[in-house]
Amino acid sequence: MTTKTGVLFSLAAADALGAATEFKTPQAIAARYGPRITEYQPGSVFGFAPGEATDDTQMVVATLLGYARQEGLGGVLTALREWLVAGPPDVGSLTGAALRFASLDGGVRAWQNSGFQSAGNGGLMRIAAVWVAGFRGEALAHAAAAVTALTHADPRCVYASVFLTAFLEALAEGQPYADAAASASRVTDNVDARAALLDAGIFGIATRDAHTAFKDRERRARAEVRARVRSGLGGHLTSQSGYVLDTLEAAVKHAGADSWLECVEPAVLLGDDSDTVACVVGAIAGARGLAGDSELRSDLRVDLGVPPHLLPALRLGHTWPGWERAWSCAEHFPALVEAAQQG
Ligand SMILES: [Mg+2]
Repeated sequence: MTTKTGVLFSLAAADALGAATEFKTPQAIAARYGPRITEYQPGSVFGFAPGEATDDTQMVVATLLGYARQEGLGGVLTALREWLVAGPPDVGSLTGAALRFASLDGGVRAWQNSGFQSAGNGGLMRIAAVWVAGFRGEALAHAAAAVTALTHADPRCVYASVFLTAFLEALAEGQPYADAAASASRVTDNVDARAALLDAGIFGIATRDAHTAFKDRERRARAEVRARVRSGLGGHLTSQSGYVLDTLEAAVKHAGADSWLECVEPAVLLGDDSDTVACVVGAIAGARGLAGDSELRSDLRVDLGVPPHLLPALRLGHTWPGWERAWSCAEHFPALVEAAQQG
């Protein structure tokens, strides 16, 4: 098993814990489940059974299945479409609109059709897959930008994903939390995501207006990502809404805690887009956990491993080419991660 498989378990288990509380209020969650949620619970509005992870993890897995095709970005798009066409219980609206174009610029076209307004968290929620697939450094930033823009081409979405993948890389190398965030913010400031999207064939002649809109907005987008990361580090949370910068800020706030459950549970208990916030938190906590095993972090008394009782029941709540709903994640994740490795 590669160590990155542990990060996949972490984000999947967090997503599955949050599945029951998605779209609920903190008051309704407390009334139904009590003050703590440490086991998978029934009550998902999309009918996910306890232990089933939602579209967030499903799209991480679909992205990995795409990389396993060894066809680059086109393979990822094909695999995401195979997931969509099989009719998953939950699909984000911009994600569905983008993938139905069946082209590399579908995310750009969907963003254009939103009047360049849509900036949901549907790219951020699945982008850890790019890091799990083995990209590093500048290649990681470029792949994060391109894979996000397949569905979410707003520069806030693209640069939030560039930040998150650089953050995972820095954390897994053993950098302390705030230092890792600072180094990921530097990556976000220095990467030319627009050039990466042009190189990837995501922007082209047919989407010139969107390219201009991206160019006009990207400086501000980077500044907003930086500001929300700082705010999350400072313990502030605006909302667990589906807006990408709210999700990023909330995840940065939650995922710095001292144990896996202390990171994930607050995201689950706050409701709203709890499964997605929890999924991003799970990715960050998982990357911290990798470093926790290394000598660099051996002085720290933190346990960021996924509680073992959450692993046997873990499933994905959808069947599509390459994955069966009944499959045990514990059995199938290691081979998936292995097959997805790039280079
Ligand atoms: Mg979800």
